[in-house]
Amino acid sequence: MNPKRIIKSHINFISLIVCTLIIVVNFSISLNAKESNLPPLKVHPLPITLQQWKGETQDNYFKEIQPHLAGYLIWSHFPIKVYIQTPDDNLSPAGLTQFQQWQKAVRISIESWNPYLPLIEIEKSDKADILIYRRHPQIKAQINPETGLYNLPRAKAATTTVKFYLTQTPPKQLRHTMSIEVNPHQTFDYLVTNITHELGHALGIWGHSLNTNDVMYHSHSQEIPAISPQDINTLKKIYQQPTRLGWVRPV
Ligand SMILES: [Zn+2]
Repeated sequence: MNPKRIIKSHINFISLIVCTLIIVVNFSISLNAKESNLPPLKVHPLPITLQQWKGETQDNYFKEIQPHLAGYLIWSHFPIKVYIQTPDDNLSPAGLTQFQQWQKAVRISIESWNPYLPLIEIEKSDKADILIYRRHPQIKAQINPETGLYNLPRAKAATTTVKFYLTQTPPKQLRHTMSIEVNPHQTFDYLVTNITHELGHALGIWGHSLNTNDVMYHSHSQEIPAISPQDINTLKKIYQQPTRLGWVRPV
């Protein structure tokens, strides 16, 4: 394939929200082991912010949400702690301004979810539930063995990755962290929508809406939506589902 063509198709996709959801299994937890080793599936109390949400309709896209062996990817300790990447000391003044614009976009996105699930920004990454990084999501080109040509994956604006762990001190609880990587090379409005969309995944909306009016639609190329009532109806329904997260593992 002509290399120029590869580069062009990459650039055409760069302003779309094309995101990837990744599940990392920590082998020390062995989520594939017998289910009896895992905390039981139970429902947490519905957070008060979601109890108070009354949508005009019940429309939602809950059937698009993928449950995991760990159950629905629900937070049960509030406020949810969010770490936002900080700039390196060696950035140029222009680079620093761009970085600060990115941080501003992240804070606007956090504020837009805050009425529905309480979030708080913290400075230490090792204490965070959700970590947000300003860097290119990994794009790996692979050679197609049949044609000998490169298969170029669709360029990604962002990825959200979930990892599981057990709390150190007994009784050991199954918990999770979410890491978001956001391609910084987008206009400010796209960045805000892109990060708002990824935060939706990190809050538990592990799937995509089929409706272009929702912020959790899988791809936006022209119109930039805000969080919709269907997004919140879906979030509320997810938080009424069973999960193993936040519950104690049997001894
Ligand atoms: Zn997505």
